[in-house]
Amino acid sequence: MKQMEISEKAPAKLNFSLDTPFRHQNGEPEWKMVMIAVDLADYVHIKTLPDSREITVSTNSGFLPSDQRNLAYQAAKVLRDHYCINEGVEIVIDKNIPVAAGMGGGSSDAAAVLRGLNRLWDLGLTKAQLAKIGLEIDSDVPFCVYSEPALVTGKGEIVTPIGPLPPLKIVIAKPRDSVSTPSILRRINYGKITHQDVDGVVAAIKAGNYEQMVTKMGNTLEAITAERHPDILRIKQKMLKFGCDAAQMSGSGPTVFGISQKSSRIQHIYNSLRGFCHEVYVVTPYNLDKQNTCLK
Ligand code: ATP
Repeated sequence: MKQMEISEKAPAKLNFSLDTPFRHQNGEPEWKMVMIAVDLADYVHIKTLPDSREITVSTNSGFLPSDQRNLAYQAAKVLRDHYCINEGVEIVIDKNIPVAAGMGGGSSDAAAVLRGLNRLWDLGLTKAQLAKIGLEIDSDVPFCVYSEPALVTGKGEIVTPIGPLPPLKIVIAKPRDSVSTPSILRRINYGKITHQDVDGVVAAIKAGNYEQMVTKMGNTLEAITAERHPDILRIKQKMLKFGCDAAQMSGSGPTVFGISQKSSRIQHIYNSLRGFCHEVYVVTPYNLDKQNTCLK
């Protein structure tokens, strides 16, 4: 019998390196980023409804739209329209990724819907094809289709996997504020921003060189978001003081993450930050296709 439902894991993303070399004529930034997925994830349950035309979305989060503004809804609609499919879709999202935090939660939910419906509707699309469709929804969706360490360029649609990360653990802290990505992107002054050595991070990961990787990491948007959200710099300084080898904001913020190869150190930093930060997590890099490396 034809399969009608599927559940997909939708991991959060972090930016190990983020730069924007220039702005396109239509106003969108050109991106040059190293992105990774982590094992803090939403779970997206997708059911196809042959006797309906409706797309419905429900979530366990009171803050999220459940209509066409939800990126998971948009993913189902875009894929259905592309392939002229006459079925309804029911989507239920167990939300764990903080919203509007720079961790790509909405984009990952959308990517999970694309992957799931690709299977349920037997479309046989490759990741590259799904990524191209995903760009119609949001610039982070193409990466989230892959959810493995990758160099991401173009408007977000060129995703080049770069192989596994050196073993490491990550502590994530989300300040209470949420940040609107478009409001940060509007404030980029291309004459003034500091560019990142994104190629240096890629080379270090490919060489398995953790020490080199941590010296090259950085996020061009951090200074812009931190002007209005000074907690970002306070958390970053605490992470570095407590012994993280690198600490920086993810995406357009305000989430800050720190990394170390020592699990015990990450656990200590988690304990120290819990009294100070709204939400704190310990996570491990995640690769959608493979088992992740866990430090004991
Ligand atoms: P970006 O990918 O732009 O960096 P983000 O990670 O900072 O985004 P998200 O959690 O994806 O933030 O939410 C961004 C906006 O998308 C919010 O305003 C939210 O209401 C909306 N949104 C729509 N659908 C979803 C969804 N399924 N999950 C989370 N947010 C969603």
